[in-house]
Amino acid sequence: MEKFNIAWENAISFNNLDKEKNRMCYICDDILKFKDMNTKEPEPGMKGWNIDWVDGNVNNHNSSNLVATHSICNENKTNINGFWLYISKKNYEDKISWNSEIKASFFAK
Ligand SMILES: [Zn+2]
Repeated sequence: MEKFNIAWENAISFNNLDKEKNRMCYICDDILKFKDMNTKEPEPGMKGWNIDWVDGNVNNHNSSNLVATHSICNENKTNINGFWLYISKKNYEDKISWNSEIKASFFAK
């Protein structure tokens, strides 16, 4: 439970929403609802959230390594040559042939 609270506190808050109940998923910029903790699909079409280990190492419980994200967004996290990309597997397959120049322009956005 403590890890969930740390992950929640590390997530971005909105200026105009109650930060105890709402945060931002840093992967998709959409809203996380505190009540949908530890779920994947609280209701059809809705997204629950879980802990994301930022560096990809699930054994690194350093508080700066934990952040709340949508479970579904987290599943789409992909490591390419040391870069974490937050794209769907389909996109990953389309973009696996990117050279470093294309990759750099992607991150510059
Ligand atoms: Zn998300």
